[in-house]
Amino acid sequence: MSETLLELRHVTRVFDLSQGVFRRVARLTAVADVSLTVKRGEVFALVGESGSGKTTLAKMLLGLLPPSSGEILVDGAPVTAKDRVAISRRVQPIFQDPYSSLNPRKSVAQLIALPLIVHGVGNRASRRAKVMEMLDLVGLSRRHYDAYPGQLSGGQRQRVAIARALILRPEVVICDEPTSALDVSVQAQILNLLLELKRELGLTYFFISHNLAVVEHLADRVAVMYLGRFVEERSRAGLFASPRHPYTRALLESVLTPDPDLGVPDTRIGNTTAGGESGCPFNPRCPDAIDICHTTPPAVRTLPDGWATCHLIAEEAVSAS
Ligand code: SF4
Repeated sequence: MSETLLELRHVTRVFDLSQGVFRRVARLTAVADVSLTVKRGEVFALVGESGSGKTTLAKMLLGLLPPSSGEILVDGAPVTAKDRVAISRRVQPIFQDPYSSLNPRKSVAQLIALPLIVHGVGNRASRRAKVMEMLDLVGLSRRHYDAYPGQLSGGQRQRVAIARALILRPEVVICDEPTSALDVSVQAQILNLLLELKRELGLTYFFISHNLAVVEHLADRVAVMYLGRFVEERSRAGLFASPRHPYTRALLESVLTPDPDLGVPDTRIGNTTAGGESGCPFNPRCPDAIDICHTTPPAVRTLPDGWATCHLIAEEAVSAS
């Protein structure tokens, strides 16, 4: 069995947007030349602000959106939009909002059993037994079997969503901001449940979040995404102890000053999402930009526990870290 479970090779996704009265087509690059590997049993976290391309990447990993170029592999096999049903046996999502991701007209039992029905697994009796088993596993009472989402709290709904995601025993779970719609008091319970389930079922998580406190709690590796590109990829310990990219530093500092109304970090470097016209895409917001940043894109600098792209990462600093 290969150690690498999930792999992206130079993945790019471009959208054509028609604009104005003449419907002129503008191109938006949501994900640009992203490569990564996720090892079996690892929690790989992806962080960045809204609009950085995180959700587009998640959709491609789930086979919901094809890449414009590049390749996505699960256990060495390419993921394509044509294989959606086959992919969903191995890769399952848990979304941010359990209020909108669960059909309010379906019972808890119907919601959790849905993947079994889609994949033609078992009969009525065995599906009932599996749903009961999942209720136990995610910490819901068996009396919730016939309940409807409207009768459940936010935390209970997210437990239903987790049970549904895990009933087929996938290998990879794409967790897209799975706690950000929940009350703070419930967030820790759901995160701890995800960690327990990972240990118990041997899962691999691709965890998307703008909340670095959450990422520090559970990630093994972290990639930081800015305008569709990875700008830094490190071990959790390395990234939190010595962030190298100015954008990573801004995100880390923002954890101390979150805007509770927006639910997104206040990075204190402005909120423009336009990239630099030339040079480093982060230069319009970068507090540390120097002349070369406006003319030349930074190269990838290898670090002992990963890499980052910034002109300011000097070779001496790299060898000293
Ligand atoms: Fe800032 Fe320049 Fe580094 Fe880009 S390359 S992050 S603009 S210092």
